Amino acid sequence: MKHNMRIAIYPGSFDPVTLGHLDIIKRASAVFDKLIVAVMHNQNKVPMFDTEERMELLRRTINNLPNVEITSFGGLLADYARQQDACAIIKGLRAVSDFEYEFQMALANRKLNPELDTVFLMTSAEYMYLSSSVVKDIAVHGGNIAGFVPAEILDDIMLRTRKDG
Ligand code: ADP
Repeated sequence: MKHNMRIAIYPGSFDPVTLGHLDIIKRASAVFDKLIVAVMHNQNKVPMFDTEERMELLRRTINNLPNVEITSFGGLLADYARQQDACAIIKGLRAVSDFEYEFQMALANRKLNPELDTVFLMTSAEYMYLSSSVVKDIAVHGGNIAGFVPAEILDDIMLRTRKDG
């Protein structure tokens, strides 16, 4: 560690941020001095919201958490973590099915950057089924997503699905 601040990175697509993500952000920000929520660009799939929009939705959602910063990145997470002086990657675990892939990624990232640990936080039971794709599917088909995403961004998703749908 180059300094005393314990910095963690929470990477993801956040297309869009859900209450499941927010739950992990709150938990991680309580454990670390600073949490960098890093929106990944260079996705294969065409996103519903572009990188800037996803960052803006996140910012609006976390405005009461002073030690959380929203950024974006492309390329290798292990390199980005080194640049940001982070000591940990945060991952949310929903089901056992998340485990195998995450285990592989964690070991690969450790190989690339041995000072970097991956910290897994268990989701709250009520968000176990929740993912951005579930939210998008429900919204596109006219379902009610009020219980799935932060209230601050509800209108943005409704507008976007109406425009595209
Ligand atoms: P997703 O489409 O699955 O929401 P993301 O790439 O945006 O995909 O997810 C980023 C991170 O957030 C991953 O570590 C993922 O496991 C975690 N995550 C996503 N949804 C939840 C949830 N409901 N509970 C806990 N962690 C979650």
